[in-house]
Amino acid sequence: MKTLTDPSLPTQPPAELLEALNYCRRPLIIAHLAPDGDAIGSLLALGHMLHRLGKDPILACQDPPPASLRFLPGSDRITNDVRDYAVDQIIAVDSSDPTRMGSIYDPGEHKNLPLLVIDHHVTNVAFGQINWVEPATAATAQMMYDLALALDIEIDTDLATCMLTGMVTDTRGFRTNNTTARVLDIAAALMQAGASLNRIMERTLNSHSFNLIQLWGRALETVEFDRGVIHATNSLVMREGLDGIVRPEGLTSFILGAYEAKAAVVFTELPENKVECSFRARPGQNIAEVAFALGGGGHPLAAGCTISGMLPEIKELVLSRLIEQVLSS
Ligand code: AMP
Ligand code: MN
Ligand code: MN
Repeated sequence: MKTLTDPSLPTQPPAELLEALNYCRRPLIIAHLAPDGDAIGSLLALGHMLHRLGKDPILACQDPPPASLRFLPGSDRITNDVRDYAVDQIIAVDSSDPTRMGSIYDPGEHKNLPLLVIDHHVTNVAFGQINWVEPATAATAQMMYDLALALDIEIDTDLATCMLTGMVTDTRGFRTNNTTARVLDIAAALMQAGASLNRIMERTLNSHSFNLIQLWGRALETVEFDRGVIHATNSLVMREGLDGIVRPEGLTSFILGAYEAKAAVVFTELPENKVECSFRARPGQNIAEVAFALGGGGHPLAAGCTISGMLPEIKELVLSRLIEQVLSS
């Protein structure tokens, strides 16, 4: 794992990354599956920048952008079928390991192409030939801002909107402990470049479907507390009649707000006996390690994993690991 850099300074993309970006003609940029605002914001920002450099980037994600992110300029260009494109480079964004690229990365088709990784997860396994990983940054979109500086690309309104969306969503509206003065400086610069902070807040953090509110309600009825860990469950049957909604977005952070809680987890049961676990913790904890040990990853205070097995057993396993972490901290 990487040591953290000074958060008051711009991060520096490695020279070989800049060279590879200048050299490619048609790069395939991949955002992680079940994409969040940082995945989509970074994907689109990098797409706009490479387009500006005269490249023909293909933008891909296994899952479509959620409705709350479709206002982002270029989001209609994101595809989940790249078989017809002859690409010459792969760039994974906001992804800590190769499984996060989901079905877009084709080991047969893509294995001989250069793979570049641009990410800010402390658990990044450096799965590219070139890995630019900055765990001290609040969002991969913040690295995109530094990349624009390094490439001397002028930030227009579209680029600024994509970057600011990634930063706003990954910091939950500048509330996380990686929200440094520099994060706010960059946010101000992006607003000056034309991004509307208010519009981004309204579209992302302040907008939920009625189905999501109902799912929160059902999941909140399951909430329990055990030795510093607060947890809630979102099972398959609880989602019946909610129009295909899967994740109770935002719920893990909300239940962590219980002042007794040091860590929080929400269990989302998926089809085919898989369970997605979303972790949050208060400063002083490190749940990235817990998630990584369970095959996932993330940040010290926000992490996750997806485990195969039955819901009751997985809950028991994950809760025991989290309680152990909280008691030892
Ligand atoms: P979430 O709770 O889904 O918002 O995820 C919190 C953080 O954990 C994000 O930074 C994710 O990128 C990371 N994360 C979630 N699930 C996984 C996973 N299966 N593998 C690696 N990282 C994950
Ligand atoms: Mn992400
Ligand atoms: Mn991120």
